[in-house]
Amino acid sequence: MFPNGSFEQGKPHPARVYDSLLGGKDNYPVDQAVAEGIAQRWPEIQRSAQQNRAWMARAVRHMVKEGGVTQFLDIGTGIPTRPNLHEIAQGMVPSARIVYVDNDPVVLRHAEALLTPISPEGRSTYLQADLRDPRAVLASPEVTETLDMTRPVGLVLAAILHFLDEDEDPAGVLRVLVDALPAGSYVALSHACGDADPVRAEEASAFYRQNKVSKPVVLRTQKQIEEFFTGLELLEPGVVPVDRWRPDASVSEGPDDMGFRGGLGLKH
Ligand code: SAH
Repeated sequence: MFPNGSFEQGKPHPARVYDSLLGGKDNYPVDQAVAEGIAQRWPEIQRSAQQNRAWMARAVRHMVKEGGVTQFLDIGTGIPTRPNLHEIAQGMVPSARIVYVDNDPVVLRHAEALLTPISPEGRSTYLQADLRDPRAVLASPEVTETLDMTRPVGLVLAAILHFLDEDEDPAGVLRVLVDALPAGSYVALSHACGDADPVRAEEASAFYRQNKVSKPVVLRTQKQIEEFFTGLELLEPGVVPVDRWRPDASVSEGPDDMGFRGGLGLKH
C-alpha cells in the first residue's frame, strides 16, 4: 500500500500523534515532534490522552455491566493500545462483538491486533471508513454482518468528534448513527475541551494545524459537548473531565482539569 514508505513516514498522522501522546511506540519522529510541540503548549495533554483511554475502558465496562451491552461500534479507533475495546468487552462477555472504524490507513495497517479475539466466541471486524459518511458506515457489511441492530449497541466516539468542524455537522452525523440504534443503546463520547485554559488549548490546537496533521482540532465548550447528548439520557455525572467520570482505583492524582471531557448517554 505504501511502496516506499515515504508517504507514511514523511508527514504526521493524527492516529500516530495520539499514539505518541499516549507513550506508544507506533509513531515516527515527525509525529513525536508534533506531540512534543503540543505538550509544550498544553502540558496536561499527555495525561489527558491516557485518562481518556482509561475513561473509555470504564464506560465500556459500565455498558456491559449495567446495560447488558455485548456489541460495540467504535468509530475513531486509533492505533491499537492495550487494553483495546474488544479485550475489555470480551474479558467480561466472551461472545462480545466489535466493529472498529477509522479513516487513517495507518490504523488499518495495525488492525490485526484489533481482530484477534481474546475468546473463541468473540468477534471483531475492522472497517476503513469516514465518520463524516455515517450512512456508509451503517450500510457496510462489516457492520451489518457483525452487529445485530435489534439489540443494544454501545456506540463509542472517543476523542474523534473534535476532528469535525461545524460545516461537517457533527450533531447531524451523530443523529444518523443514534437513529439507527435500538432503545437500550449507549453513546460514549469524549471530546477536546479548552474551557479550563482556552488560551493554551488554542495555542496547542493552532500548533496541530500549522503542522498540517489534519484539519484544525475543534475545541468545544462544556455546553457544546453536552449538546451532543440531546435526545439521550445523559447519565451521571454528566459531561465531566474524563478522569472525574466514575473514577476507580486506576485514576491517578493529576491537575484539576483535563483537555478531554466525556460522558455516557442512554437511548430510550
Ligand atoms: N478512540 C481512540 C483514539 C482517538 S485518536 C481513543 O480515544 O483512545 C482519534 C482517531 O480518530 C484517529 O485514529 C483518527 O485517525 C480518527 N479519525 C479522525 N477523523 C476521522 C474521521 N472523519 N473518520 C474516521 N476516523 C477518524
